[in-house]
Amino acid sequence: ADAIRQRLTDAAARDARWRDGRVASLVYYASEDILEVAKAAYLQYFSENGLGLKAFPSLARFEREIVEMLSNLFHGLAAVGSVTSGGTESNLLAVKTARDQAAERKQVPGTPEIVMPVTAHASFDKAAHYFGLKAVRTHIGPDFRADVAGMRAAIGEKTVLLVASAPSYVHGVIDPVEEIGKLALEFDLPLHIDSCMGGFMLPFLEQAGYPLPPFDFRVAGVTSISADIHKYGFAAKGASAILYRDQTTYRYQPFSFEGWPSGRYATPNILGTRSGGAIAAAWAVMNYLGQEGYLRLARQIMDITSQFINGIRAIPGLEVWGLPQMSLFGYGSRTLDIFAVAEEMEAKGWYVNRQQDPPGIHLTITPVHQRVMAEYLADLAGAVRQVAAAGRKATDNTVNYA
Ligand SMILES: *Cc1c(COP(=O)(O)O)cnc(C)c1O
Repeated sequence: ADAIRQRLTDAAARDARWRDGRVASLVYYASEDILEVAKAAYLQYFSENGLGLKAFPSLARFEREIVEMLSNLFHGLAAVGSVTSGGTESNLLAVKTARDQAAERKQVPGTPEIVMPVTAHASFDKAAHYFGLKAVRTHIGPDFRADVAGMRAAIGEKTVLLVASAPSYVHGVIDPVEEIGKLALEFDLPLHIDSCMGGFMLPFLEQAGYPLPPFDFRVAGVTSISADIHKYGFAAKGASAILYRDQTTYRYQPFSFEGWPSGRYATPNILGTRSGGAIAAAWAVMNYLGQEGYLRLARQIMDITSQFINGIRAIPGLEVWGLPQMSLFGYGSRTLDIFAVAEEMEAKGWYVNRQQDPPGIHLTITPVHQRVMAEYLADLAGAVRQVAAAGRKATDNTVNYA
């Protein structure tokens, strides 16, 4: 066992150093105490299985309470939904639910369609591919938010679902949810809000007095919301939630089957066996932090974010895309090759998350970045000076997500 442990440690030698703030994506790190709470809960429930809620009523209770807490946070009237393994599973379920609802309620002439802005997460195209729908991506405005007229024009007889992001992963801006909600009501369509990023930030930013447009169940027309507990919820990986306005839509989500010798097999989600550890850790961290803890973190994260944004804007040649409303954003340049800047930053030991349209660098800010902010901005200013002086172009222009 010791030798295996050593091999694991050795294997990680070239992995990104998230604990040192060298990664601004993929890992959400606030502090050691939160991590310890998550780890302890995860290990305590390491072997338990969320498939068997009769065997493990504790997990059933954790899931119910997570759904209740989030439903309250999102101003839901009924606590309906489930805990999933991640944002992708939550979004896949939103699409599957809408497809099945449409199949029962109306005659769709041909392949059913999802209408959403081009900035919606890739998981919606994955869902369309898996479940036999077509994803129709509409353009965005100069502010990087969904163009509502464009979405309206794309709605037709085959449309079964509208999607908006709060905020989008790409630019960190919130789509005009109220206007899209009106479209949903006018065309009698479900509207899913992808708040995988925003679910554990926006409600607290609103409490902290940030002027934000409503994105949750207060907006008539919003039928479901996804929120990732393993992102800004700071839980262990493998935890997200999908919430529904009411039972009328949710009832198309679960799957139940009896035609095999083992009897009735009923699951709310896509997975069969579910990690008890992920569910327990989500519950533990949410109770450990509470509304107060998340409010404190949200304030702190926004402070750090605005310092990053101001610092980047102060570097000649760089530009932050749009007006990010939360703690993630992209920046690029109209004069320099930003991917050449990315390569300089990598040479200085930063893990860089590129994006393609417009070409840029993406940052998702968490508390760990406070410590490295000055160093990052100094390295960035240096990288920009080097690229500008040499008129350097990037050697590699491929853009892989994350
Ligand atoms: C991260 C993310 C997802 C997908 O979540 P995973 O947990 O990576 O499966 C979906 N939508 C948005 C906006 C995200 O940021």
